[in-house]
Amino acid sequence: MSKRRLNTNPDRNGYFGPYGGMYVPETLMTPLLDLGRAYQQARKDRSFREELRNYLRDFVGRPTPLYYAERMTKELGCKAVYLKREDLCHTGAHKINNSLGQALLARRMGKKRVIAETGAGQHGVATATVAAMFGMECVIYMGATDMERQALNVFRMRSLGAEVVAVTAGQKTLKEAISEAMRDWVTNVRTTHYILGSALGAHPYPRMVRDFQSIIGQETRRQIQRVAGQLPTVLLACVGGGSNSIGLFHPFINDRGVRMIGVEAGGLGLRKGQHAARFAGGNVGILQGTKTFVLQDRHGQIQLTHSVSAGLDYAAIGPEHSLLRDLGRVEYVHVNDVEAVEAFDTLGQWEGLLPALETAHAVAYMIKMAGRWEKRDVLVLNLSGRGDKDVQQVAAWKKERAR
Ligand SMILES: *Cc1c(COP(=O)(O)O)cnc(C)c1O
Repeated sequence: MSKRRLNTNPDRNGYFGPYGGMYVPETLMTPLLDLGRAYQQARKDRSFREELRNYLRDFVGRPTPLYYAERMTKELGCKAVYLKREDLCHTGAHKINNSLGQALLARRMGKKRVIAETGAGQHGVATATVAAMFGMECVIYMGATDMERQALNVFRMRSLGAEVVAVTAGQKTLKEAISEAMRDWVTNVRTTHYILGSALGAHPYPRMVRDFQSIIGQETRRQIQRVAGQLPTVLLACVGGGSNSIGLFHPFINDRGVRMIGVEAGGLGLRKGQHAARFAGGNVGILQGTKTFVLQDRHGQIQLTHSVSAGLDYAAIGPEHSLLRDLGRVEYVHVNDVEAVEAFDTLGQWEGLLPALETAHAVAYMIKMAGRWEKRDVLVLNLSGRGDKDVQQVAAWKKERAR
């Protein structure tokens, strides 16, 4: 790696090196370009930033704590382990940082209706929540299969006043829900903003979502210097589309002493269709507007994916991560379903914190490396969400395995 400062901002056309871009039908180009312009203006506008800061503080509950995990530190044999408590955000995960930012932008653009896709339902709940708060009409697209698996979140969204539309195409999961949301957006763009839920999709989404999530890393930087008197030596986060991880990593990109580790879902193992580890089994392709690492077959057909955690179960990864991987700036690893579920229990029993199953992947890797961390290591793990939403699924999973 060279000593030159890394610039990981996308170019005018939305490329992070060779990745990213705007691979969309003609009809979506104008809305995306308009959105990009509106976002560029908003981010430079003091009153927009102040408004965002106020809502993040009073509605979301920021800053979230940086918690010193004493028992984890002893067990792992390093200098210190800190957990960035995104699980304490309103609605229970980091997703609301982005939903709130985009809802404010939508209001600024005069849009009175917001739509979103959701897999596990976390992004849908976060979006329904901010839409209710701002008095906006809200439609959430969700695969029919996911609606069955995540009935509780469907109930939450409906209680918040959102319309939840079942998507019955294909695998009936996240990928199809995104396609359906895009279709709605094309048709209703005059009144509607599409709140995409991760650092994915066509430009300007990957950059915009990263910026809204970077509050995680900005706070962590201030907090760790205050409590530990130094920067972390290692950052860890799970990687679905890549928003909580890039939010933590981005403010440290040019601190060469800070190692960064992204943890993908190894599912049932690295056989075709049984995992979601894009950097272990994927190659460069195009999915839903962006060029990036994708799980696909020889003909470019998207492969099935599997993970015990719905939030990591997607065939593509955000384009900025593909660049960071090529640059060697971030290390990407994967852990499997069994390891993740074990880590779910372990963090509960060691620290009294049940993590989301997505987050449990990062926890699992941290535990797996016990004994290999250095004595001087100061680890920060992004606790992206809480595990309440997953207890039923973990129970069912354990029952199935015990048979
Ligand atoms: C959605 C979700 C993820 C995965 O999405 P990213 O965009 O990769 O952050 C991780 N953790 C939690 C708790 C989630 O809800």
